[in-house]
Amino acid sequence: MGNRKSAHLVRNLICLLIVLCCAMGIFLKFTGDSASFFDRLFHPAFSDAPKAGEVEIHQIDVGQGDATLIRTAESAVLIDAGDIGCGDTVVRYLMSRHLKSLDLVIATHPHADHIGGMREVLEQFEVKRIMMPQLSGNLIPTSATYEKLISTIAEKGMFLEKAEPNTVISLPDCEIEILAPVESYQDLNNCSIAGRLISGEFRYFFGGDMEKEAEHDLLQQNPDLKADVQKLSHHGSDTSNTAAFLDAVGAKIALISVGKGNSYGHPHKEVLDRLEKRGIQYYRTDQSGNIVVKWENGEIAVKTSR
Ligand SMILES: [Zn+2]
Repeated sequence: MGNRKSAHLVRNLICLLIVLCCAMGIFLKFTGDSASFFDRLFHPAFSDAPKAGEVEIHQIDVGQGDATLIRTAESAVLIDAGDIGCGDTVVRYLMSRHLKSLDLVIATHPHADHIGGMREVLEQFEVKRIMMPQLSGNLIPTSATYEKLISTIAEKGMFLEKAEPNTVISLPDCEIEILAPVESYQDLNNCSIAGRLISGEFRYFFGGDMEKEAEHDLLQQNPDLKADVQKLSHHGSDTSNTAAFLDAVGAKIALISVGKGNSYGHPHKEVLDRLEKRGIQYYRTDQSGNIVVKWENGEIAVKTSR
């Protein structure tokens, strides 16, 4: 009797398993293949590649660091690649977007929280161009992270391009305008490459960790900094993101790449107050996880992973 009961239970469990598998199969059939189904679970929506005229700015959640993917229908650009130990996160994120190559990688400046994961990216993807700021001799880092990155670039037979302000990089269907550094500085943050993505009517500003001095000099030399979306410099620090600079960019949306409970107190309250006063909507990776801003038919939509 006991044996018959347990045989009956096993049969019921097998039936239940078959029914669950069938239900899962039907569910996946109607929600796309299994990879994109799981992408949708772990990443913000917009899982389809952008169409002609559309732009996506992905602020990848790398904690206290920086990594931004820009995607259009035919181009992909990575700006920074997170801190040491974040290479896997960035590589997996790019793979989840089904990318195989990057048209351009920009290292805004060689601090570890911006170039820490870049070597892994170069190893996993075909990178067509890579760019860093021009640094004076005493500022060239001697860190193992920097040296390994440089040797990987050399091993790949790649040429490390130096950023030249007031130049335009033409990509298949968009442009990156290089704006800064406009001076040589004795501070690596101020040496950050700043630039704008231009695609049709859409503009996105990025400036690495540039500080007030570099913001001021850029503004003096180039008053037209208008952008729809701005990545706040230096993780939303009050040593950057001055009122004059925010006004010059005039963005509707600001993105802040910042680690939860970071020891710097980023983003600083003064900066958040400045954003709120101007009605600039902002998103922080410590609160929202991965953030995707999409430009589509002249409208901006934002999706976050939490
Ligand atoms: Zn930084």
